[in-house]
Amino acid sequence: MSTLTSSDHVLVVGAGLAGWRLVESLRNLGFDGEITLIGDEAHLPYDRPPLSKQVLSGKWDVAKASLATHDHVTSLAATMRLGARVTHLDLASTSITLADSSVVHGTRVALATGCRARELRVPSSGVLPSLRSRDDLERLNAALAYLAPKSTVAVVGGGFVGAEVATSLSSRGFTPVVVEAAARPLIGVLGEEVSRWLERLAGDFGVELRTNHQLEDVATDGSGHHLSFGDGTTLDAGAILAAVGSSLDLEWLSDSGLHLDNGVVVDNDLQAAPGVAAIGDVARFPWSNAAGEELVRIEHWQVASDHAAQLADFWMSGESETTSMVPYFWSDQYGKKLQLLGHPHPSDEVQRVSGSPDEGKWLALYSRNSFVTGVVALSQPRGLALSRGLLESPTLLDEALSAAPWSS
Ligand SMILES: Cc1cc2nc3c(=O)[nH]c(=O)nc-3n(C[C@H](O)[C@H](O)[C@H](O)COP(=O)(O)OP(=O)(O)OC[C@H]3O[C@@H](n4cnc5c(N)ncnc54)[C@H](O)[C@@H]3O)c2cc1C
Repeated sequence: MSTLTSSDHVLVVGAGLAGWRLVESLRNLGFDGEITLIGDEAHLPYDRPPLSKQVLSGKWDVAKASLATHDHVTSLAATMRLGARVTHLDLASTSITLADSSVVHGTRVALATGCRARELRVPSSGVLPSLRSRDDLERLNAALAYLAPKSTVAVVGGGFVGAEVATSLSSRGFTPVVVEAAARPLIGVLGEEVSRWLERLAGDFGVELRTNHQLEDVATDGSGHHLSFGDGTTLDAGAILAAVGSSLDLEWLSDSGLHLDNGVVVDNDLQAAPGVAAIGDVARFPWSNAAGEELVRIEHWQVASDHAAQLADFWMSGESETTSMVPYFWSDQYGKKLQLLGHPHPSDEVQRVSGSPDEGKWLALYSRNSFVTGVVALSQPRGLALSRGLLESPTLLDEALSAAPWSS
């Protein structure tokens, strides 16, 4: 593919982390053509991780989560279309149509549309509120404003966002109760063993966690929300938030001709079609690791950021990335920092190599076919950082155990 020149016009669909980082990276690499960034939210690009952490807990004003100011946008000479939803992509002409029927022509299109919170619909209340955006956070804060100190807030879902929301609510003096349908939180993501080590975090922090609780309905009246569960138990709460994962919004691309399969499928250079790329949470990309190559879609802040840099580099230089990325994820929950390197399967073998749940800090290796596939740590940031090399090139579990980089 030809490299970008000043006569090119790059259209970036989605003004979140990946979209904004792409704009920055293109300009940093010297692209002096036109850039149009289109986002359906009313806000300038902002970071989502602080929403459930520093912002919800009240430590940060939401403005601190901003990624860009108007001056910043002006200095990068990007045309910004906010509150504008893209409804159609025409591959042949690399043009897009907005909800108001206007058409924008470009020479390249980057899809950076992320995902949305998975909807949890119950018979009596419809879709429950969730937390994905700044507007969601404002709605949650508005509901909390009516509550007395110590009021119960039901958090449906004990995954990453649910645990972080419960932690933040607790630090604001509310009484979160986390209800989780599975036997243990995160069992489907981190596997049996690791989820067992994490199970006690909520209780140790003073947050009630009810597992094996399948929500059946929520009735709402002047006194609050009344949750009922499959096992006949109930919970009354002043406010409620569903944190049950994410889902993709690909309907608008269904007639585009792109290959859609649990994401926009791209090649090694993040290209979905000639002149059209996908990055961040929406992209399903080939990822090489010790266990081979697999098509993955990874909803991590670091991956969205790395994708943006990789795409800008590819479009500017025409050269493919030669090293494979090491996915990184963190979550601040129940007073602990949980970190993950790699992209292990929940069924991978797990070996704890330092610490223990009793100590409240530990580090463990995931492996498959004798190769290390991930490193997971609870409140062991230094050990995790020192272990990164285990995932930068294929490493046998035995080699990792004898080198023990986490203990250097
Ligand atoms: C509450 C919360 C906490 C998180 N915490 C962590 C964490 O601790 N660690 C971590 O690694 N990751 C975390 N994440 C995940 C991380 O924020 C995402 O991986 C990251 O935001 C992905 O960036 P993105 O640009 O791909 O998508 P997004 O940030 O979702 O941006 C996509 C943008 O595109 C817009 N859009 C979608 N469709 C269209 C359309 N058709 N037209 C125009 N605009 C459109 C969306 O509205 C959105 O503004 C968290 C996410 C949330 C919600």
